[in-house]
Amino acid sequence: MESELMANDDSLPPNKLLPEPNPPEKPAPACPECERLWKVYALNTRKYLDVTLAEGAAAQTDDIAKVRILEEEALEAAKLRELARQAVRHHAATHQK
Ligand SMILES: [Zn+2]
Repeated sequence: MESELMANDDSLPPNKLLPEPNPPEKPAPACPECERLWKVYALNTRKYLDVTLAEGAAAQTDDIAKVRILEEEALEAAKLRELARQAVRHHAATHQK
């Protein structure tokens, strides 16, 4: 029992503590729906990163209005990305039986 507990401790990856969600399961090969959902997720992730980068760049300037707009866009992009991630996971679950 003791060794099992220790093994569990060792196997905890440090990135478990990060707020960033782990990417969903890999798409099943030859499943068009997996492929479609993954493309949406990848697109949303890309957009989220782009907006986040733009927000960071704008924060270096005095353009408060731009920063505010980008902040809202980043929030929206994060939401869409999370929804896309859930869609992938929900669909992927239908493959596991
Ligand atoms: Zn699928």
